[in-house]
Amino acid sequence: MPIFWATLLEAIQSDPNDCRHSRNCPMLPCRKQNPGSHWSMKKRTSTVSDGLWIQANGWIRKPRTGGFALCRPPGHHAHPGHSSGFCIFNNVAIVTSYLVQQGKKVLVFDFDSHLGDGTSRICEASDQVLYWSVHQFPAFPGHGWINEIGVGKGKGFTLNTPLPPGSGDDLFWAAFDHFLPVAHQFKPDVVAISAGFDGYQYDPLLDLNFSLDLYYQLGRRLGAEFDRVFATLEGGYNLQALPRCIYNFVAGMNQMPAPYLESPTQTGSRLWETFETILYGGLHELAPYCRLT
Ligand SMILES: [Zn+2]
Repeated sequence: MPIFWATLLEAIQSDPNDCRHSRNCPMLPCRKQNPGSHWSMKKRTSTVSDGLWIQANGWIRKPRTGGFALCRPPGHHAHPGHSSGFCIFNNVAIVTSYLVQQGKKVLVFDFDSHLGDGTSRICEASDQVLYWSVHQFPAFPGHGWINEIGVGKGKGFTLNTPLPPGSGDDLFWAAFDHFLPVAHQFKPDVVAISAGFDGYQYDPLLDLNFSLDLYYQLGRRLGAEFDRVFATLEGGYNLQALPRCIYNFVAGMNQMPAPYLESPTQTGSRLWETFETILYGGLHELAPYCRLT
């Protein structure tokens, strides 16, 4: 068992009494209510009837329901020919490629706070995959600017939303709400989420300023906005906070109460100005391909 995976399990297992639910805890691994349960976190309210499901143990199965895969290592930096950025196999791109082969249109929403350059590269020439990434810029892997919109027939099917370091919840929501209409215009059959939590305010790798409330509300929004949703774990490097981020996100997807409460964060006016400059400087690239509000 990889060390990081073991550490993550230990962090979750060490915390059973923090569960505030008297019953129906959204987390199958909750030891308080589900002693002895295994480690596949399944989202109860939506289905991916014919998608592949990557279990946390690394097996690939055909699922009955959607879910949340606790994957380590993460996958979204992995390219077809080489590993990168802690990633070996691109879990979400493998599932997405399979779904496209089955004739499905897939929205990949990547809220890990690095650009998923592997996923972006794999999907950039497809008009059957809309890859939408919200990430810190500048940061690894060094690109992901708003004017990178795909290639060939995939032009207009890549949405990069770069956020300046220091961005808080309010700026994330402004960016999310700005581009959400494009995701709906695409009319995806399935929504695949690259769920990374390294934008959390106490994560050691990046400089974003997101709260636990953001991850809970994001789960709620995605679960409410789309019918067929599943997620795979990407980054998140504060090992004490990561389980709380995941718990909140999965609870939100299931429209259940937030397990952990934390006040939303605010963004300073200078960063708002920076973001607006980024946004309106690059939107003309996308304008011929989609209707932006
Ligand atoms: Zn990341």
